[in-house]
Amino acid sequence: MKKISEQQYQELLRASHVFLETMHPHELAKEICSSAIRILNCTEAHLYLVEGEGFLLQEAGNILGVSLEAEEIGENLLGEDGKIVTPDLNVALDTVMQAGPSVSTGALMSFFPSQFVVATSLKHKQHSLGVLVLIDSDSQRSFTVGEELLLEELALFASQALSIEHIIGERESRDGLTGLYNQKYFKKAAEREIERIRRYGGELSLVMLDIDFFKDVNDNHGHLVGDDVLKGVAHFLTETTRLTDVTARYGGEEFGVLLAHTPLKAACAYAERLRKRVAEAKFCPLTVTISGGVTELNADSLTVETDALTLIKAADDALYRAKDTGRDKVVCKSLPG
Ligand code: GH3
Ligand code: MG
Ligand code: MG
Repeated sequence: MKKISEQQYQELLRASHVFLETMHPHELAKEICSSAIRILNCTEAHLYLVEGEGFLLQEAGNILGVSLEAEEIGENLLGEDGKIVTPDLNVALDTVMQAGPSVSTGALMSFFPSQFVVATSLKHKQHSLGVLVLIDSDSQRSFTVGEELLLEELALFASQALSIEHIIGERESRDGLTGLYNQKYFKKAAEREIERIRRYGGELSLVMLDIDFFKDVNDNHGHLVGDDVLKGVAHFLTETTRLTDVTARYGGEEFGVLLAHTPLKAACAYAERLRKRVAEAKFCPLTVTISGGVTELNADSLTVETDALTLIKAADDALYRAKDTGRDKVVCKSLPG
């Protein structure tokens, strides 16, 4: 039996920490794939999660850290949205799922011709979560017993993190009316991004948005219409924002957006685009406007005291400037360096 190397062991430990720290579902899926590729030295990894009766491709990545599109995975296997359109692939994934946490090489082979493929189920306390598939372009390759154990360990850590995210995390971190993240999650996500800048540099922007004269909507049309307007604005937010950004209902009619790796200029353009779209839209059949405040944090403006509230307060100050100077506008302000 070939033993696992010290480096593989260290990578596995690192992955277990990173998985648990990563709360955003999309980022977590990416981490699981990239860790699997690195630790087991394969060319590709796919993460399929149980969805309804079948499976959904949550993430696929290659050795260069690039996310793969559905059409790159395999012709006719997946629709554009990652939904599996080949019934046999669903069956094969289900076979792996039922086999339990051990590594399986058989069921999926015919879907990835001329490649080496292994897969393991992701389960937490009898709860089926999905299947992690590893692919190597060297079809002659095999897995040692040590590598099989490594993959099983990795699947265990991934399952733990996925179940926290999906079973506990989702329920506690969402706002019931709009489905956006809540204030608690938003602050945690901001703290995590600030830590990332502390360690690795880079920048992030934070946007606070508030519906103008929303009290009038409630007073003139009733709270139910007000609720529909809130849902409508939330929908625009989700539509306009990348999957890796965090959109939250911060409170009442105030929303927060965390844009990772985004400088002030790009964040302002984003907020302005959103403001325009909301102003032009009809919400059953009202029109409303929003005001926004944007702030950026980078390695130069970061101090030992900087935390999520520092950023939220700075964006809020900019937002109130927008309110004081006429509403239906966006004010942008860097944190003082
Ligand atoms: P401004 O332009 O200065 O932001 O004025 P505004 O009227 O939007 O601000 P104000 O803070 O005076 O009023 C906010 C209103 O939002 C009052 C509150 O009843 C309403 N609101 C907060 N949460 C909800 C909700 O969940 N549903 C509905 N329908 N209304 C809500
Ligand atoms: Mg308001
Ligand atoms: Mg408000």
